[in-house]
Amino acid sequence: MLCGWGRVPVAGREVRSEDLEELTRRAVLCRGLGRSYGDSSLPPPSHPVVAATPLADRILSFDGATGRLRAEAGLSLRALNRTFLPRGFYAPVTPGTQLITLGGMVAADVHGKNHHRDGCFGAHVTRLRMRVADGRILECSPEEETELFRATVGGMGLTGHILEVECRLARVPSTWIVAESERIHDVDRFIDGLKEAGVRWPYTMGWIDCLSRGSLLGRGILMKGRWAEPDEAPPGLPRPRRRPSVPLVLPGWVINRWTVRAFNAAFFRCHLPRVRRRLVDPESFFYPLDAIGHWNRMYGPRGFTQYQCVLPESAGRGAARRFLELLTRRGGASMLCVIKDCGAEGIGLLSFPKPGISIALDIPIRDDTQDLVDALNELVVTERGRIYLAKDQFTRPAHFRAMEPRLEEWTCIRRKWDPEGRLRSAQSVRLLADRP
Ligand SMILES: Cc1cc2nc3c(=O)[nH]c(=O)nc-3n(C[C@H](O)[C@H](O)[C@H](O)COP(=O)(O)OP(=O)(O)OC[C@H]3O[C@@H](n4cnc5c(N)ncnc54)[C@H](O)[C@@H]3O)c2cc1C
Repeated sequence: MLCGWGRVPVAGREVRSEDLEELTRRAVLCRGLGRSYGDSSLPPPSHPVVAATPLADRILSFDGATGRLRAEAGLSLRALNRTFLPRGFYAPVTPGTQLITLGGMVAADVHGKNHHRDGCFGAHVTRLRMRVADGRILECSPEEETELFRATVGGMGLTGHILEVECRLARVPSTWIVAESERIHDVDRFIDGLKEAGVRWPYTMGWIDCLSRGSLLGRGILMKGRWAEPDEAPPGLPRPRRRPSVPLVLPGWVINRWTVRAFNAAFFRCHLPRVRRRLVDPESFFYPLDAIGHWNRMYGPRGFTQYQCVLPESAGRGAARRFLELLTRRGGASMLCVIKDCGAEGIGLLSFPKPGISIALDIPIRDDTQDLVDALNELVVTERGRIYLAKDQFTRPAHFRAMEPRLEEWTCIRRKWDPEGRLRSAQSVRLLADRP
């Protein structure tokens, strides 16, 4: 059996090799480190074998003058960061985990805490080497085979297998982060706080207590960060931390409305009312969840899903409040509810972010999860927002079509490169009516 990070299994298995060209010869889907939550890295029922890339992780070239890196698609973001931070470079965009591969970063066109300023990862990709559905190996970029490039960035592995990625790393002034955090008392002030912080801080995001109600609805902690200047940073490199692990799958009842309420209240109160400023190492700042191995086992044997949507600026500031009100009315209880403001839409035709507010929350799977996701999706459609495919496991095709006006153009390009519909995933079967 295989599963995404949400731990909902499907029949399937991985094959691995250092030789990605050979591995992808007959594959219909590639998979990186399986950190997408839902079914995007899982195989379709009739072809249960996925080509897993993590052994194909060689760094092929690096230019220290420009920061240009070329590497195999299986290189992990953690290996990249640990190799290049001591040399004064870091990934230009990084999501909330570094246990992912370059191929997965391109296929989901990942975004990070700096989306309002630096866009998605795809904005920093200069070239891809790919195997397309008819078996050919070719290169695409923003200038060459542009359509294929734009359909592949954010295309969830459905336009071809990414073999190599060339991108620009960001030069950083030190190996430490200056972080600031503060309590925020409701969702409207949160949105204002994110906007204000985004003017001065490259990295911003917030944690929300999604069980608070009334005037406290959407209270939480706003976090901001920037790279420390050399004169602010301690000498030497931060040391990698040892990480504890959740040793086994916890019973399903451990995460419930009452435990989540208690956790959320404690987490909020642990932060003193005043602004907190400190120097932190980048791994603690960018990847707090990576500090606990197998944390996805906490949600019990049925697993969990992450729901992430973006509510566009055109929907107004009230959209986030309406979303949280609906969530609490429907009994959705999440310990992990993250809010972020998004900047301009990226180059990828199916890239997730667009200007507005993104909300992401973990939902333990119960009998009513499909109903909850349906209700949230109805609201997102009405507000003209959209969901993030890398997290999704429950969205229905009609909802996705209604959210995604770019789908038709993306599908035309996909069909041009793969007329027989060879490349597919469990997600594309569920959502795009691909052949099982
Ligand atoms: C704790 C946590 C925090 C996260 N935070 C964020 C966040 O802040 N922002 C964000 O954007 N995402 C976030 N994510 C999601 C994660 O960044 C993406 O799902 C990413 O794609 C996972 O990369 P992976 O290598 O594990 O790919 P997988 O999960 O294995 O695959 C993801 C997709 O990429 C495709 N793919 C992988 N490799 C290739 C390849 N070589 N060629 C073609 N297609 C390929 C797969 O087919 C699949 O469609 C988070 C995930 C976790 C677990």
